[in-house]
Amino acid sequence: MKPQDLLPSYVLEHNARIAEEAEEEKETGMIRLEQEDFGTYLIVDEDTGKDRLVQVDYDYPSLASTFGWSPRKVVRKVQGKRCKHLNTDGTVLCRTCGATASMFIASATDYLDEHIGDTAEDPGYFFNPDCDEAYHG
Ligand SMILES: [Zn+2]
Repeated sequence: MKPQDLLPSYVLEHNARIAEEAEEEKETGMIRLEQEDFGTYLIVDEDTGKDRLVQVDYDYPSLASTFGWSPRKVVRKVQGKRCKHLNTDGTVLCRTCGATASMFIASATDYLDEHIGDTAEDPGYFFNPDCDEAYHG
């Protein structure tokens, strides 16, 4: 007999409901990275097949971050120590080491090119706030 069998049914139902809700919240959807013409990228919603073009290079660092890139991929040393670029997300100059936005964007672009076809959790590209509101009543 499993320990679970000893629990009254209302507890089991309650647990099942919690598990179900957790499942629903987890459903943020997955996105897939695809290459588009002229050095642009397409993100595709794995569930719906909807896509979105990302063509502004200043959007590449945040897009690349979704797939695991970080500004730290740009290696710069300040007084012998590797700069962590803590004061930039890749779209502005790092004031600590002087790495420019274009250096981060170049790094993010290389990263994206190497990760075409990868999937990641959707951080909000296809997130629909109206839908969420309806869900919460
Ligand atoms: Zn830096």
